[in-house]
Amino acid sequence: MNTQLELIPTVKHIPQWLAEHFNNANTGNYRDKQLFYAEIKYPVLEKYAEKCGWDKQIIERKCHSCSGTGVYKHYNYEFGQRYLIGEEKCWNCSKGIYSKNTFYLKRYILNGVLYHIPQFNNPHEPIINTINGIISHREIAPENALKSFLVLSAVYNRQLLRDLAIMYTKKKYQTSFIQQLLSINPRYEDLPF
Ligand SMILES: [Zn+2]
Repeated sequence: MNTQLELIPTVKHIPQWLAEHFNNANTGNYRDKQLFYAEIKYPVLEKYAEKCGWDKQIIERKCHSCSGTGVYKHYNYEFGQRYLIGEEKCWNCSKGIYSKNTFYLKRYILNGVLYHIPQFNNPHEPIINTINGIISHREIAPENALKSFLVLSAVYNRQLLRDLAIMYTKKKYQTSFIQQLLSINPRYEDLPF
């Protein structure tokens, strides 16, 4: 038995099977993921998750002119050979960094898992962590992530599911799965997933 887990029980903010769909929908890449961010992720986190400060994310882009060295080299080419004829400070960047963007991410804990939502205003609380670069996610099949998004829509946003049904029926996309979801009463225990 893992005693540490016993000492700090994970709070269940939403039913665990829905939290797993939430994690899948957040992790995978699929069409209309923007709708997940706007219509599911933000409202569900705001309503059910614990809010716990901010993280700062720094994304640096390396300069291509100087290959991130900050020094631009002039070459001369003769007889198929390359000769270095001079060096100067690169004019396109600062010390090899072409651009540096800082984002503030609001932190939420949902069923023991940390989620972020970018904020465009300045944070008011202390920064918990600084993240350098892109956050990488585990791999999940796009189709499974999309199905999780649809299940979440069935539970948390029926109007969104009805809108998706219209959009996707035209494209003959996930039609039977959406029809199955629409035919079910949205009470949690009625969903067979
Ligand atoms: Zn440069």
